[in-house]
Amino acid sequence: MTTAPLTRDDCAALDAADPLAPLRDQFTLPPGVNYLDGNSLGVMPATAPARAQAVVQQEWGEGLIRSWNSAGWITLPQRVGDKIARLVGAAPGEVVVADSTSVNLFKVLSAALTLARRQAPGRRVILSERSNFPTDLYIAQSLAAQHGAELELVAPEQIAERLDERVAVLMLTQVNYRTGAMHDMAALTARAHAVGALTVWDLAHSAGAIPVDLNGAGADFAIGCGYKYLNGGPGAPAFVWAHARHAAHIEQPLSGWMGHASPFTFDTAYRPAAGMARYLCGTPSVIGMSVLECGVDTLLAAEPLGGMAALRAKSLALSDLVLAQVAARCAAHGLRSVTPAEHAHRGSQVSLACPPELDGYAVMQALIEQGVVGDFRAGDGTPEQPHLLRFGFTPLYTRFVDVHDAVTVLAQVLDTAAWRAPRFQHKAAVT
Ligand SMILES: *Cc1c(COP(=O)(O)O)cnc(C)c1O
Repeated sequence: MTTAPLTRDDCAALDAADPLAPLRDQFTLPPGVNYLDGNSLGVMPATAPARAQAVVQQEWGEGLIRSWNSAGWITLPQRVGDKIARLVGAAPGEVVVADSTSVNLFKVLSAALTLARRQAPGRRVILSERSNFPTDLYIAQSLAAQHGAELELVAPEQIAERLDERVAVLMLTQVNYRTGAMHDMAALTARAHAVGALTVWDLAHSAGAIPVDLNGAGADFAIGCGYKYLNGGPGAPAFVWAHARHAAHIEQPLSGWMGHASPFTFDTAYRPAAGMARYLCGTPSVIGMSVLECGVDTLLAAEPLGGMAALRAKSLALSDLVLAQVAARCAAHGLRSVTPAEHAHRGSQVSLACPPELDGYAVMQALIEQGVVGDFRAGDGTPEQPHLLRFGFTPLYTRFVDVHDAVTVLAQVLDTAAWRAPRFQHKAAVT
């Protein structure tokens, strides 16, 4: 039995009944833009410009150096970290905001390798997924070389079977940036622990996108990104978490003064701070962290409405809708979803693989010209690594009518072959 695809009016009715709909007012969305790329760069919280202005004009301009104390700059990494902790199943004091995702991965992967090999020196393998995000693989390659370890890359379905006593650290991104496929954090962590391995989870496409329970899963280390689903602004600082059983006794390798037990005694010798503060390195990026706080607050505003569980339910309804609409209205063009159909395995995005005769880059450019902003992720064009049209869903502001409208534009771009126009062929530096 097939059911007729929802009409735009049906979608408008879903929006009218959506208890999360008022959360959209927290954002400044440019007119005429249907933004489905919050998985790459979240939209701007309406509070961000005034906050940036106040930090620059009053806190910096007038407060000057006094603001480290009077405006609380020095505790920003912990204050914003405590807010992020509420979104990822961590306790107060367990998350700090610092540096970039790449740099934080370097810290925790190094700490995890040191810890695992202290307990069992013979373990040499960092196990990860072949289609993990490149920066994660590059950082792991560098650390493997420095620690005399090796990076083993496998397909997602091979992870469980390749976990054995050779493995020091299982390093995974919970939601795959290309496909939107989601790992079972609790199950894989338990499996890793059963063979004596530690886990490092990258939450770049999880934090603020899906409910995460780091302590519930018993994970060892985690990092995540500030500028995607946390809406922290371009280049926003990232965050880092370590389980309480590790936080206090593992030194991370970037032993900067902000991670010192007492930065302002200016000791000659490094002594790590007691808890997660040791995962800081240098001076916090005050403007960036202040704006990130505005973004994190947009997610915490959902707490009285059911929080991440309610956002998750809407996210799945949005991705189900796009899958059904594409199947019903774009079928003739051979687009194929590479995003898992099962909810338990899906993050908060949908990726559509392009058949060889479609130039996915040009299709996305044609969509963007009409205000539908997703992004394009190149593969090698083979069935295993196809070129992808990627659409992210951020239930804080994405509406059901937005999804319907996006598929209307997609169908029209494909039906009219509008994407073949020469102006869509030019590749910019950032896709
Ligand atoms: C976005 C993303 C990053 C980003 O790292 P930066 O250091 O902020 O450039 C890292 N890892 C994954 C899995 C990502 O999706």
